Amino acid sequence: MTFKELNFHIDIQEGLDAMYFEKPTPVQELAIPVIMEGRDIIACAQTGTGKTAAFLLPILNELHKVKKKKIRAIIIAPTRELVQQIDQQFDGFSYFAHVSSMAVYGGGDGKEWVKQSESLNKGTEVIIATPGRLLSFLSLANIDLSGIEYLILDEADRMLDMGFNHDIMRIVDKLPKNRQTLLFSATMPPKIVKLAQNILINPARVNVAISKPAETIRQEAYLAYDKQKAPLVAHILKRMEFESVIVFSSTKKNISIIQRELKSQGIPSKAMSSDLEQKEREEVMGQFKAKKFKTLVATDIVSRGIDIKGISLVINYDIPSDAEDYIHRIGRTGRNESDGHAITLINDRDQILFFNIEALMDKVVDKIPLPDGLGEAPLYEPHKKRKKPNNKKRFNSKYKGKAHFKKKPKSDN
Ligand code: ADP
Ligand code: MG
Repeated sequence: MTFKELNFHIDIQEGLDAMYFEKPTPVQELAIPVIMEGRDIIACAQTGTGKTAAFLLPILNELHKVKKKKIRAIIIAPTRELVQQIDQQFDGFSYFAHVSSMAVYGGGDGKEWVKQSESLNKGTEVIIATPGRLLSFLSLANIDLSGIEYLILDEADRMLDMGFNHDIMRIVDKLPKNRQTLLFSATMPPKIVKLAQNILINPARVNVAISKPAETIRQEAYLAYDKQKAPLVAHILKRMEFESVIVFSSTKKNISIIQRELKSQGIPSKAMSSDLEQKEREEVMGQFKAKKFKTLVATDIVSRGIDIKGISLVINYDIPSDAEDYIHRIGRTGRNESDGHAITLINDRDQILFFNIEALMDKVVDKIPLPDGLGEAPLYEPHKKRKKPNNKKRFNSKYKGKAHFKKKPKSDN
């Protein structure tokens, strides 16, 4: 199928041509016609499958038909980075169609607030926002919501993980009832189903999700004790050819450890974590996308949704406690059918977590022997009884009491 068969307005089709989008991805092929019919939808597809265009294109096509000087669509996404990314894609698609959009997120100064609230009432048709910031606006500023035709929740699973459920429900309460609501998510845990029941009306279900990373990503793992890990990262980076790499770590503390080791071995890198101010984050991401530097050391703040071209390598310095996060992390590479490579470092303690991830993916990842000079590696014995970890915090996290992975049915419709 080609995009031409979806019969978008010529101005939208031109935007697609300009962006070299020829064929819709599976989730686009399934979701776009349903959305164009005016139905609510709940769509589940893994990271990197093109969910953004799946909702942007049909709503843009509709909004473009008649101009109105009112807010007509609200798109909510979990992080500022994601909001900006959606806004950029929207700008691309609407280049010839001129539907106005605005990104709304926190972290700026008071001037930003005034600027954003002024332009909100000046005929912006599409708002793309983080839930908290949007709710502040809706509560404090006088914003006309009577023209809302669309509500879109992107990365809904992530928003619930981040505790935005209440904010989302408060936003929904303020919107007109006769709107079309679209919910997109990379995974479909029960809490998403519940949210969908609360805010969607007779939704169509689109499900191309099985929690599996793209086949094009080559996955490998090293077993390594904690003290071997930073030198191992340096070793890999020195010897491998790559365009850009993200080294993921669950904790900010490890980010400093990694950076210190890289620095001592003459490998420049930059860090990305919630420690950075909003402006710094944008700068770092901007430079990384522009290939101004090659090595980004980051927490899971960039693991979901952010799309950067040409990441050929992802290194997991540790195993995320939620198996889904592993899939999101390595989904940063091999996007859109290009090849990618993911290398994971497994310490003694984390073996069972990694075993669970392998079970979720229904795949055994190759374990490579440590390079010479780094010492003995631990054996891979995921089911061996181990002493309780002293790092209590991690195991008291939100995942307490929850299985580390959920085996999903291949499809539920
Ligand atoms: P998701 O939200 O599902 O994680 P994105 O919407 O971020 O995925 O899309 C991933 C990448 O694929 C982006 O770079 C996007 O521009 C690209 N892309 C999406 N759909 C198409 C398409 N039909 N043709 C070419 N590239 C596409
Ligand atoms: Mg997305």
